Amino acid sequence: MANYCCVRGCNNNSQKNHKLSYFSIPMDSIRQLQWLENIERLDLMVLEQIKVKNRWVCSEHFESRMFAGLGRNKLKKNAIPTIIKKVHLDSSTSKVPTASRISGYISILTPPLVTSERR
Ligand SMILES: [Zn+2]
Repeated sequence: MANYCCVRGCNNNSQKNHKLSYFSIPMDSIRQLQWLENIERLDLMVLEQIKVKNRWVCSEHFESRMFAGLGRNKLKKNAIPTIIKKVHLDSSTSKVPTASRISGYISILTPPLVTSERR
């Protein structure tokens, strides 16, 4: 079975690009959050842990300093994916439940400017 890269905008899979390495998302909750945040797939947080582990991130999303050794097939323990293409979601594909939650959250964090003019 092919491993598909779950990074948004990346269509690599182990059948098409078998030269790449594919890394499963860490089980450790802190690192998992870092990965999912970086690859903009926080929607995967709602999945069961076991399913998240079956999601893959290809080696194109890791800087060379993230790899252990000279090859690109083994990551350092604390490696996180940092090379992500910025993709603009078109509305037809945005079935992401967290996206609206996050934007709602941001609007709470940045309240509209209160014009407190005192005369
Ligand atoms: Zn990828």
